[in-house]
Amino acid sequence: MSSAETIHVNGVWRPAASGAQREVLDPADAKALAVVAEGGADDADAAVEAARRAFDEGTWPHTPVAERARVLRRVAELLERDREEIALTESRDTGKTLSEGRVDVDDVANAFRYFADLVINESGGRVVDTGSPDVHSVVVHEPVGVCALITPWNYPLLQASWKIAPALAAGNTFVIKPSEVTPLSTVHLIRLLAEAGLPAGVANLVTGAGDPVGARLSEHPGVDLVSFTGGLASGTKVMQAAAPTVKKVALELGGKNPNVVFADACATDEDFDTAVDQALNAAFIHSGQVCSAGARLIVEESVRERFVAELARRADRIRLGRGTEDGVECGPLVSAQQLAKVEAYVASALDEGAVLRSGGVRPEPNAVRPAGGYFYAPTVLDRCHRRMKAVREETFGPILTVETFRTEDEAVALANDTEYGLAGAVWTKDAGRARRVAGRLRHGTVWINDYHPYLPQAEWGGFGKSGIGRELGPSGLAEYRESKHVYQNLAPKPVRWFAG
Ligand code: NAD
Repeated sequence: MSSAETIHVNGVWRPAASGAQREVLDPADAKALAVVAEGGADDADAAVEAARRAFDEGTWPHTPVAERARVLRRVAELLERDREEIALTESRDTGKTLSEGRVDVDDVANAFRYFADLVINESGGRVVDTGSPDVHSVVVHEPVGVCALITPWNYPLLQASWKIAPALAAGNTFVIKPSEVTPLSTVHLIRLLAEAGLPAGVANLVTGAGDPVGARLSEHPGVDLVSFTGGLASGTKVMQAAAPTVKKVALELGGKNPNVVFADACATDEDFDTAVDQALNAAFIHSGQVCSAGARLIVEESVRERFVAELARRADRIRLGRGTEDGVECGPLVSAQQLAKVEAYVASALDEGAVLRSGGVRPEPNAVRPAGGYFYAPTVLDRCHRRMKAVREETFGPILTVETFRTEDEAVALANDTEYGLAGAVWTKDAGRARRVAGRLRHGTVWINDYHPYLPQAEWGGFGKSGIGRELGPSGLAEYRESKHVYQNLAPKPVRWFAG
């Protein structure tokens, strides 16, 4: 496969039909990292046609679940074999640290194993009690058909696996379109699927831009389901494009996630250290480019000053640099656009009265931080309020805004005051309050005295404008299945509804 042959249709690697190419940039120095095919609508059409044929005429939808599960487990083994290479690719492409890249590969392998086990356990249909010995009634699962899978740049491989593993487990065929900014690890994964023994045409890949490739997949009459992870603006376009053909639509969109800290969570020095440390992790891991980033710190007024001072002190010490360098804790932002967007949010917050406690600048280049990279210092903005743009909109960068509360009701109201509803956390020593607040938060994941962990066996997704549907867990497999009720009359007789 030459470098620009990154389109995979019906088992064959090839360049874009138009011959167009795109340079993929290393965000640490803005230099070209790789060249990929810049697919177009015709490439999307060809990929859908291949997936359609593989679904309608191929073996995969009817392959026994044990065999489908075997292929998924084999993919997990191959991911482990190539762990270092993929982690390096992901680190270079997204800017994240190499250790985060390794965690991603492990999580991806776990997702493949989880869905392999789940589909075995949940493959049987459900016999329905009809109350009649002459009727046999059963609800069975069938694959949805051809799935269009569209993924973002922050967790390219992980987001792909949350779609690909359940889609394959359920017997679907698919076309994936990774983000044009970070397509490289998805190319590697598609190679592994073929190596694991997936028949040609089941897994197809088109590299290219959201519009035309993603847009074409979303509207294509040959696609039965579109599963999209990305921003709100693109997600609404996907839904509109999918409407005329009444496709199934699953959307995993953004978040503006609250991290609520009660004073009692800072009672001892050890508690205080834990709460600050986790607030730092919530906001700044992967430079805040995480859909569930705890970008809104909502802290009880009585501990605000101590908490924010320590947070800012530690944020200033985060080691920024190229993700593959030893000792680096945070990489660059993914692109020049992302950097410009983050700077604009900080400027607008300062304009609206926020107080800068750390960051707010592009750091100077140094031995691990090349000039030209898209670096931005972890930024703590104190004295924020709910009307500020940086508090309301997803900044998707290393920006932590600080708001305060005096009562539990006020904390809950602030935490829920967002059009999104992806994730949030509450920190308190009071178990009753923890459960009360968790129960009142309108978010798809709530952490109590923790931030960021997720489990493949637990549903992931959002309330409100954070999306539609769920990934992971049993619901994450159900997204890729149709239910069919088969009702069999064992002793048919006329019904005589019509007398003649
Ligand atoms: P994005 O919306 O710009 O792009 C996402 C994908 O959609 C890309 O592959 C892009 O090419 C494609 N796309 C763009 N326009 C399209 C169109 N008109 N039709 C079809 N596809 C189109 O998002 P991004 O900047 O890559 O990713 C960041 C966003 O993703 C953030 O909002 C983040 O919160 C969200 N995200 C959500 C989750 C989650 O689990 N909820 C996980 C990761 C990222």
